[in-house]
Amino acid sequence: MAWQGHRGYTRQRDMRLPTAFLVFSIGVLIWVLVGPRSLAVQAPVNTPTPIAAASMTPQPSVTEPPLPACGIGDIAAWHGKTADWQTTLLDTTFELSSSYAPTDLVPVTQAGIRSNDEKAEVRAFVIDDLRQLTQAAAGDGVTLGVNSAYRSYAEQAVTYDQALGTSGPVMAALAVAKPGHSEHQLGTAIDFAVNDAGDAWLQANSWKYGFIGSFPPDTSPAFTCYKYERWHYRYFGRDTAAAIHDSGETTREWLWVNAPPPPGYPIAPTPAPVPTPSVAPTAPGTAAPGGTAASP
Ligand SMILES: [Zn+2]
Repeated sequence: MAWQGHRGYTRQRDMRLPTAFLVFSIGVLIWVLVGPRSLAVQAPVNTPTPIAAASMTPQPSVTEPPLPACGIGDIAAWHGKTADWQTTLLDTTFELSSSYAPTDLVPVTQAGIRSNDEKAEVRAFVIDDLRQLTQAAAGDGVTLGVNSAYRSYAEQAVTYDQALGTSGPVMAALAVAKPGHSEHQLGTAIDFAVNDAGDAWLQANSWKYGFIGSFPPDTSPAFTCYKYERWHYRYFGRDTAAAIHDSGETTREWLWVNAPPPPGYPIAPTPAPVPTPSVAPTAPGTAAPGGTAASP
């Protein structure tokens, strides 16, 4: 009985396998006959769907317009009041009005820094950090000076006309801002008188005191619209300067993202790009040690 029982169990199991195989085979047969036909109909409809969905996912520029290319134009800066000094974006397109003139200008020498222009002025709130920057540099054996600071709209017009006469329109466009387009009109920009040591010190430390170089070597003029200028710095205050420094972006890029124009604001006045110079812009280390007054 025990033997039969064992046989019965074994036979029973042997019968299950062919049955399962038969059911499986019928299923495969149905799939082969019907399945491919239905797949052939559905495939073109279904296949592109996940691809299209995936390609639409990484689009950060949907909410953030791309940084506009540098173009020649005269569009009012969207943060164009003297109270907006931290967020005003100026380049070869965006400008200040001819009447923009800070009323709190004071001589830079109040910060204890020497100046080659006895009339050089900045807005009063810049003085404290300029003094601490000057003292910190001196503590490291670096003597800083000022070549140029605030320039009115009219003064910038003279500067630009002079550059136009000596350099021609191509180089002038890269080297000198048109009136209204200069950060010097903000009253927060300074052209420092620097040698190589001063240049290196400012690059490493200026942001700690609220100053950021507007035209860095690696990103000018592509991102800044002007050629590299190691002497030109703009004051943003320490917190904003630290944020810009940490971002690794130029001031123009950072302002575009963090203080963007309102929706619908005109940002591209003309398709004409800034002309490419036939002569390479001044290379790092070959710029005039004392800087120049002909500066954006
Ligand atoms: Zn300058």
